[in-house]
Amino acid sequence: MSDLCSLDLTDLRDRLAGKQVSAREAVSACLERIEKTEPAVHALLNVQADAALETAQALDQAGPDSTKPLWGVPLVIKDALCTAGVPTTCASKILENFTPFYDATAVAKLKAAGAVLLGKANMDEFAMGSSTENSAFGRTANPWDLGRVPGGSSGGSAAAVAAGQAFGSLGTDTGGSIRLPASFCGVHGIKPTYGRVSRYGLVAYGSSLDQIGPLCRSAKDLAAVLEVISGHDPKDSTSAPRPVPAFEAETAARKDLSGLRLGMPEEYFGEGLTDEVRACCEKALEAAKSLGAEIVPVRLPHTRYAIATYYIVAMAEASSNLARFDGVRYGYRHAGAQDLTDLYELSRSEGFGEEVQRRIVLGTYVLSAGYYDAYYRKAAQVRRLIRQDFLDAFAACDVIVGPASPFVAFGLGEKAGDPLQMYLSDIFTISLNLSGLPGLSLPVGLGADSGMPVGLQMFGRAFDESTLLGAAHALSGTLGPLPAPKGL
Ligand code: GLN
Repeated sequence: MSDLCSLDLTDLRDRLAGKQVSAREAVSACLERIEKTEPAVHALLNVQADAALETAQALDQAGPDSTKPLWGVPLVIKDALCTAGVPTTCASKILENFTPFYDATAVAKLKAAGAVLLGKANMDEFAMGSSTENSAFGRTANPWDLGRVPGGSSGGSAAAVAAGQAFGSLGTDTGGSIRLPASFCGVHGIKPTYGRVSRYGLVAYGSSLDQIGPLCRSAKDLAAVLEVISGHDPKDSTSAPRPVPAFEAETAARKDLSGLRLGMPEEYFGEGLTDEVRACCEKALEAAKSLGAEIVPVRLPHTRYAIATYYIVAMAEASSNLARFDGVRYGYRHAGAQDLTDLYELSRSEGFGEEVQRRIVLGTYVLSAGYYDAYYRKAAQVRRLIRQDFLDAFAACDVIVGPASPFVAFGLGEKAGDPLQMYLSDIFTISLNLSGLPGLSLPVGLGADSGMPVGLQMFGRAFDESTLLGAAHALSGTLGPLPAPKGL
């Protein structure tokens, strides 16, 4: 990997601002890296090489601009976010020919901050999955081991950053889709508090769960990007009218963990956790103690209901959100339909992949008259209990810590044929979305058996991303960076 491509985003940004590197050089280095690694990794669904070079050239001509905090920084965006004039497929055949005429708010904010869009990242179709194997346009491989999955559903966003194709990316997290791939690919990722980042222009999956967030090589990088994309947006009624903290400055200022109580939930360290993941997490917690943190035991007793609850809520919302793809307004339309019902049935059964269809069917079922009370209403009630677990735990601690996943990245195809096994990958990530709280995953080492990255999660109080970012920054500083991915 060229030295440039292995820089952290904030280091590159400082060099761009100081004119030690031009925007064109940064973009060209990424494009070269993409050309070299894409045949093996397939992290991207499209590459906007000409447009990126043109944008970079225009930036260079105008010169660095201190009012643009990401001036000249090349990024990739998950293909679930609308990008004006650039195809946005959600990795689905049904949106194969869809090109939006507007940018999602998060994308518009990145552009306004001077960032350069390199291309769109692969994902599980409509963000449904944990391995990026559900993409209609081919799966992504993990840069650490090309025979393994990158995690999902933002697998392309994580793999692109790990492979040095971009300095950061945007992903989305409905039930772990930023944190799981971040942990599998050895990068940092944060799911902000629900409402922190506008969802305008994000193709909806589970609207009460979805959040957009960055994946980068350091906590400081995450803070820099989050600071740009956060904030109230009149176009999204669920975005919070709250001031955006100076995330980057607050993160960089955190030197140790003194005064911080880290809650260790016994439910996250019990059976089912592989030895190598447990060992890496425990080592990280020892390092946290040496930085002044106090470890306190906490309980999250409703964790065991999280998977059942999440998959009812998420599928119900998905079945409703995906009703708009009907072959009439936009997206794939079957050419030979005889009548309207035929048109719906043929377009939807050919346009949607198997996992998406499974969820539409199950989601429609749990919302149907007669089953609503037994499933959807119950799930909504249990969701409240799961959230209450967190609120109770935060009475005794400031941050909750636990593994991002019980295991490291698994083999391509290993769980693809068994949806329930795939759903179980999300055991440690989904409660957070059900509760609306912020969480991040940071790499804390390589598993002793597999040599694959292990991610530690940190959960925070609502709108307290700063504490998470600061803690991750301080802890990463002590643990040191991972080596370069060895699969490439
Ligand atoms: N794996 C979970 C699902 O399939 C989460 C996906 C996500 O966060 N988008 O629903």
